[in-house]
Amino acid sequence: MKILVINAGSSSLKYQLFDMKNENVLCSGIVERIGLNGSRLVHKVQGKKYTIESAVKDHKIALKLVLDILTDKEKGVIKSMNEINAVGHRVVHGGETFSGSVLIDEKVMKALEDNIELAPLHNPPNIMGIRAAKELLPDVPHVGTFDTAFHQTLSKKAYLYAIPLRYYTKYKIRRYGFHGTSHFYVSHRTAEILNKPVEEMKIITCHIGNGSSVAAVKYGKSVDTSMGFTPLEGLVMGTRSGDLDPAIVTFLQEKENLSYKEINSILNKESGAFGLSNGLSSDMRDIENAALEDHNDAAKIALDIYDYRIAKYVGAYAAAMNGVDAITFTAGVGENSAYARADVCSYLEFLGLKVDPNKNNIRGKEAIISTDDSKVKVLVVPTNEELVIARDTQKITQNIKNEEEVS
Ligand code: AMP
Repeated sequence: MKILVINAGSSSLKYQLFDMKNENVLCSGIVERIGLNGSRLVHKVQGKKYTIESAVKDHKIALKLVLDILTDKEKGVIKSMNEINAVGHRVVHGGETFSGSVLIDEKVMKALEDNIELAPLHNPPNIMGIRAAKELLPDVPHVGTFDTAFHQTLSKKAYLYAIPLRYYTKYKIRRYGFHGTSHFYVSHRTAEILNKPVEEMKIITCHIGNGSSVAAVKYGKSVDTSMGFTPLEGLVMGTRSGDLDPAIVTFLQEKENLSYKEINSILNKESGAFGLSNGLSSDMRDIENAALEDHNDAAKIALDIYDYRIAKYVGAYAAAMNGVDAITFTAGVGENSAYARADVCSYLEFLGLKVDPNKNNIRGKEAIISTDDSKVKVLVVPTNEELVIARDTQKITQNIKNEEEVS
């Protein structure tokens, strides 16, 4: 069975084609700058990379370009589009409607549209990607996997904010959490690596990248997570502030005469490591280099606050679960930065946790980086959201087939 996984953003469309026989990625790529000048497709197959400059006006043309290259004699990996058995789509916000992946029918499309209000930046491009794929591949099942779904197990005490309850009833203001597919994959993989049932483990997963979140995963289920109503809450990120006193918002609006759009933009695009480093960079590699090599004071403060905030959340989630067996790092910074992992863990030695500097000296691969006698295990697990989407798509497609055979 071959499954195409699609992740449509506002100006990009990422794809991977899986052969589910052995969960092999046959090829992957991205169409960048959709609707802008200089749009192009970057296609990777068997270690080779092809770049094709082409005017791409919208997501349908982007996907057409992808399907053309998948079936191309020289750069392709399949003979015809008929070899694609199903399509899996990443969707950012499933609201309270979706607690797992679903087959996308018209009812689901309507629910996705109803959720636009909750994710105005993310859901519209996801929907465009689904519509384009359903038009170009009308005869195969399409499945949606939601970033919010894994966190639908949070209890009221973790997801309600202490504002008048009527706003939850009226506007569904609550913690949703994001990066759910990543936290699911990484926590379950952590249990596999440690050779223990996930149902018996308390795991804290740290997805630390450009956008970052921490999740408390108790017995295989998410019980708390640092992103909230939107992906702005929680950790310090590349350009996002994360947690702050809500009174700062109204104070700044008044002092600087800012509209709600302007303050929203400042908190989402000008804050985080970028804001703290005086605009030096939102990229943590640059911040680490400036702080550690060039001894730039603003970068050092940005780096310290970034790591300190992660450690605070890990401590809080150890309390939320009344213990922790393993802490796992993933995503761009979590997978690659030995400094960030060591710095975060230096606050957590009170848990009986010890990192082995030699084991920690790795990048982008699975590893246990704690010492053998560490009470809490510390791991690095590269995330693989696409594989989760492909597996869910396969499961749901198989179920439809079985139901058809029974009826
Ligand atoms: P992601 O959003 O998961 O793609 O992560 C992107 C972030 O990972 C960027 O801030 C990168 O600078 C950061 N990153 C990648 N490699 C490293 C590294 N070796 N050290 C520190 N940060 C890194």
